[in-house]
Order: sequence, then structure tokens, then C-alpha cells
Amino acid sequence: MTAVAKTRRDIVTLARQLIGFESTTGNVAQIEACLSFVEEYLSEVGPIHLKQYRSNGVPSVIAEFDHSKTHDLLMIGHLDVVLGSPEQYEPKIDGDRLIGRGANDMKGQVAALLVLMKNLATLDPLPNVAIALTFDEEVGGDNGAKYLVDREGYRPKFVITPDGGGDETWEIVHAEKGVRHVRVTCPGKAAHAAYSWTGENAVTKLLDMHHAFVAEFPPLDSEIEYWHPTCTLSKIEGGTSANSVPATASVTLDIRLVEAAQHDWVERLLTTHFPGCQIETLTACHPVNTPADHDEVVRFTKVLEVCTGQEPLVRHSHGASDLEPFARAGIPGIDVGIIGGDVHGPGEWASLDSLVVLHDTLYAFITNERKSQ
Ligand SMILES: [Zn+2]
Repeated sequence: MTAVAKTRRDIVTLARQLIGFESTTGNVAQIEACLSFVEEYLSEVGPIHLKQYRSNGVPSVIAEFDHSKTHDLLMIGHLDVVLGSPEQYEPKIDGDRLIGRGANDMKGQVAALLVLMKNLATLDPLPNVAIALTFDEEVGGDNGAKYLVDREGYRPKFVITPDGGGDETWEIVHAEKGVRHVRVTCPGKAAHAAYSWTGENAVTKLLDMHHAFVAEFPPLDSEIEYWHPTCTLSKIEGGTSANSVPATASVTLDIRLVEAAQHDWVERLLTTHFPGCQIETLTACHPVNTPADHDEVVRFTKVLEVCTGQEPLVRHSHGASDLEPFARAGIPGIDVGIIGGDVHGPGEWASLDSLVVLHDTLYAFITNERKSQ
């Protein structure tokens, strides 16, 4: 069997085995079984060093050739999946399609990363690259990617996460929106509604303030790629009975940002438009803003184009990924989308050819870099 055929066979075998684990959030037994499986696979590859971390019981694994926290390239994969029906954990192959829960988000890609590390292990000298495998991306990554950056101090020079993907086109995502969830609680003055002039209605007062706050955001229109900050009133609470003036009211806002500096802008707007209110930040995620003309983005795009024979789509994304904590630490990175579809859906699939191309592209990207140094 040729090396190319062996790489393909290994990726397919591993991907099928990984899909077999029901590694959903909270399924500790299956997460631990999946963890043991990848650790065992990697530990059999001679020069690889393994480091295991735990944050609130959630494991992460780093596999590297040199002990480092400043690798030239860190590739991130997550092995947790969203809930699937029982048959989705029994992978199927239909032509070029690998079908099953996590095929495209992102156990197929993790299989490619595992085989990549095995193939890189034969190089001399060994490259200063690593893979990080986490188990909590689907629930925000606090105990995985965020933990590795914020608590363990990982500061790679560049990050790639091949997480999920487009449909029929390869995608390179270089920018992702940041998120800020805020709860604003407004005080009023209770009164019987028959004597409403003696009270102060917290609900209407808060809605007036909210109206002025939202007016500061660019107007929503039907642009397909709406690359501007947005604010969604996602939750509202207030009032206790039909005949009372509400004494308190609160709104929860989902604010999406395209640039890091907009966090300060939002801060100022909140203070200006909600005077006298209690303002709590529930979540704050940094936007990812790797310049599309960053050297490594350009180089990766070229290598991918050679491997696929197609020009990939270099774009921004409205969702968030495990790149966020790295972006917050000033580390550039990209999210690479393979060919596949129905991520999180009942028919989730990944193209087997594209998993092999992912392997080949990363291999060429890593080895070209060494040649040029
Ligand atoms: Zn994912």
C-alpha cells in the first residue's frame, strides 16, 4: 500500500472510531473513553509528547514534538459533539460522504490531525507544531481553548482550527464577530395602576432607554453579509400583575461586534443610555480579526489552492469559534472549512476526499515553512 493510500485509510478508520463515541457535554464516561482512545493513539507515535490538562474536570490534550508554549503553529480540534440520534453514532459511508454525528464538526478533521502528527513524526528535524484537542467547544470553550490560553499561557505564533465547514466550497475564515451579552435592570416605583401618576413605570422607562440605545447601531438591512455591529433584545422581564405599575424591569441584549475597540464603544453607550440602571455583562467574547493579507493566511490559501485545484473562499463569519481566546491574546488564526454539510443536523456529513486534502494541505503548509526558513 502506498503512503498516500495508507494516510487515507488511517483517516477514514480513525474518523469512524471517533464518531462512535457519544462525547456530548456531560457524558463523562464517553468523553473519558474518547480521551483515552486519542491519547493511546498518539502515545504510540514515538517522538510525540503528550500533556493532559483538566479544568473543572474537563480534559484537554496537547500533542507536540518539543516542549513549548510558543509553537510555530497550533492546530485546534474539539472532540465534543452536539446531541445526535443513536444511529448518528454509527458512522456510514456513502460514496465520498462520511455520515455521522461529528463527521464535519469535527471528528473527521481531528482524525486528519491525528494522522498528520503521525506523518510529521518521521521528519528530521521535527517541526515545532502541536495539536490541541478539547472537549467543550460546543458550550463555549471556557475549560478548553480559553483555559489553555488564559491559564496555561499558550502563545503559539499562528493558530488553525479546521472546525466545521462550508458546503461545496473550501472556506478560510479570517474574521469572526465578538459577542457581548448584557443584562440591564431598571428601577421604577410601584403603584396601583388606578393611580399610575404616583408611580414610575420601569418597563416603559427601560423600553424608551433601549430605543435610544439601539438607534446608535447601524440600521439593519438585508445585506447578505451584514458586517456591522448588531444589538438584539433577546429577553425582557417586568411587571407582576395587570393592575400594578411595574417597580422593576430588565432586558437582556445580545450585542455582536466586528472590532475589538467596539467593546469600549458599547461600554460608553450603555453608560450614556441607561443612567441609574444596573448593567451586568454576562458574556464578553473578542472578535477575531486576522488580516486577510496576513502572510500565513496568504501562504495557507496558496497551499490549499494547489491541493484542491480550486480557489478557496476567504471570508468572515458571524459565529464564534475556539479562535476567540487566541485573538484576545493577539494571536492570529484562521478557521478552515472543509467540504461537508448539515453541521449539527441529522444528516451531518464530511467529504472523505476533503479530509485527506486537509491533511495534505497542513502537511505541505508545515513543511514548506521549514524549507523557507
Ligand atoms: Zn465545531
